[in-house]
Amino acid sequence: MSSAVDASLRTPNQLWIGGEWRDALSGKTFPVLNPATEEEITQVAEADSADVDLAVAAAQKAFESGPWPKMSVTERARLLWRIGDLLLENADELARLETMNNGKPIFESRQVDLPAAAACFQYYAGWVTKLEGATIPVPGNYFNYTLREPFGVVGAIIPWNFPILMAAWKLAPALATGNTVVLKPAEETPLTALRLAEIFETAGVPAGVVNVVPGFGPTAGAALVRHPAVAKIAFTGSTAVGKEIMRAAADTLKSVSLELGGKSPNIVFADADLDAAVRGAINGIFYGKGEVCAAGSRLFVESSIHDLFLEKLTERAGKLLVGDPMHPKTRVGALVSREQMNKVLGYIESGRGEGARLVCGGEPAPQNGKGFFVKPTIFDGVRNSMRLAQEEIFGPVLATLEFRDVEDAISQANQTVYGLAAAVWTRDVKKAHKAARAIKAGTVWVNTYNILDTASPFGGYKMSGFGRELGKHALDLYTQVKSVWVDLND
Ligand code: NAP
Ligand code: MG
Repeated sequence: MSSAVDASLRTPNQLWIGGEWRDALSGKTFPVLNPATEEEITQVAEADSADVDLAVAAAQKAFESGPWPKMSVTERARLLWRIGDLLLENADELARLETMNNGKPIFESRQVDLPAAAACFQYYAGWVTKLEGATIPVPGNYFNYTLREPFGVVGAIIPWNFPILMAAWKLAPALATGNTVVLKPAEETPLTALRLAEIFETAGVPAGVVNVVPGFGPTAGAALVRHPAVAKIAFTGSTAVGKEIMRAAADTLKSVSLELGGKSPNIVFADADLDAAVRGAINGIFYGKGEVCAAGSRLFVESSIHDLFLEKLTERAGKLLVGDPMHPKTRVGALVSREQMNKVLGYIESGRGEGARLVCGGEPAPQNGKGFFVKPTIFDGVRNSMRLAQEEIFGPVLATLEFRDVEDAISQANQTVYGLAAAVWTRDVKKAHKAARAIKAGTVWVNTYNILDTASPFGGYKMSGFGRELGKHALDLYTQVKSVWVDLND
């Protein structure tokens, strides 16, 4: 298979701390795999709490002294813009690295993740020179104004599904607002985060402003959350780990923002453009192998069009090319790890056991006997009470449910602990807007799915987390407001 370990790709494999590449103090390393071939790509240094201490100290020093706090806003803006340019210049290589490490189709990493990561840095480059405080009318002879100040050291902890893009979503606004960062990538996918560190160095980001510490959640991740000198934790990952982080952050009263899981409803009304809705349902669940927090994993179809819709949907799902992620026509790549594949296959078994009807897929699809591939899988006859409809599977598994009318659709859609995203498909403008208001989710798409832009806020309701990333909202996540009073009395 052409996606075997590609020796032409740079695969930095040490910790990036204080502007230097270093081994872990323990000397430990861990293997990083290509999930499409199961081959080891490289061994990467494994940070633990001692390395995290060094990284936080470097970030603290860079925040307090040296060039970073003195840098003019125009220079900082230029720096962020340059990072975006470098990401675009190196997009082919970075996309291949991302695909080799994560298993996602090259089509996605090259056409979506890399341009979006670059756009994120360039969008926040624009904000650097526009962060303003306010002057506030107060009684008495006083002058009162506000300053928006960075927190200091930000700990960023990210998952494996969009490694470089999640790093960009956190780093770009954190740096734009003047913080310094210690980034812990997911254990499965540290490679593009480390290449990003090289890019920061090339762009001229001062030593210690960004530090990258690959390692494991319970050791490196937890050390970052516990560290008293880390002022803020920005986390994307599972709801279970999000809860642990919130508890652990309480000891040092850190600011925390959480982007967590989802079980997003995708609702197709009988009056929708059905072919467009079929494409949207496919994209909603099979894009990114379904390892997408906003995946449209619960498909609600109005009863009157159910049979026709399922027929069209199944036909289209069967045409998706599953296989070598490096092939430009591949649309469903390998799941990130054996563990994730087994979790997904376990849910498929449980769906059968709960009495849902398997319409297509439902089994592994190894290529030449290798790789963590699972066929695009659709279940019909799912009820909202089933695990298949309530638990986040994070794989290419769609649960189809029926509804009678708008009220029934909205009531069923909201029967979940999650609230990350949702979509409605209809030609009726009133119905679309009513549903958009009634669904408890941070993003609602109308007649589309999975559209995101750096300028538009993204985040969860309910147990999908809190805080909004992207757009101007992310600036609030990385700044605190200071009120300054000046006595003008004679
Ligand atoms: P995860 O297990 O929650 O891990 C996320 C990150 O947290 C990883 O870097 C992980 O390290 C680290 N971590 C684990 N335990 C920790 C602890 N006790 N303290 C500090 N850090 C800890 O999630 P995942 O398996 O990587 O990703 C899949 C999940 O993320 C899904 O549930 C998905 O819904 C969610 N997700 C949400 C969004 C969103 O925007 N809302 C986006 C992407 C993914 P290790 O790598 O060592 O485990
Ligand atoms: Mg994990």
